[in-house]
Amino acid sequence: MRERDYRLTPQRVALLRLLAASEGHPSAADLYEQIKEQFPTTSPATVYKTLTLLKDMGEVLELGFSDDDNRYDGNKPYPHPHLVCIRCHRIMDPKVSLVQPMEQEVAGLSGYQIVGHRLDFYGVCPDCQRDR
Ligand SMILES: [Zn+2]
Ligand SMILES: [Zn+2]
Repeated sequence: MRERDYRLTPQRVALLRLLAASEGHPSAADLYEQIKEQFPTTSPATVYKTLTLLKDMGEVLELGFSDDDNRYDGNKPYPHPHLVCIRCHRIMDPKVSLVQPMEQEVAGLSGYQIVGHRLDFYGVCPDCQRDR
């Protein structure tokens, strides 16, 4: 098996910075548009590969959607609840206090050792409510 290359190249560092500064959970295409300004020779494939690598390193949380592009969170690279606007597709991190107890309850009742969860809330954001 090939050893994975975990070196932090300037492009990877730039992508991590973009992710850390981003709000709204950008897609790979969003990130490509931004990184192109600093590294014009970057290809979309490089961005995808780098995102996969950062995900494997635990630096980025990937959110997959069956009907939309994958989105990325570099601020909180661990499972946490998300709030998805069904109109503009913005994704927020809502403040929820009961996730930890819920996880303990699920673990206690099932006997599973919980390693993660996926909790998405869907709705219409305040901006989109105003625009109707
Ligand atoms: Zn919206
Ligand atoms: Zn998030």
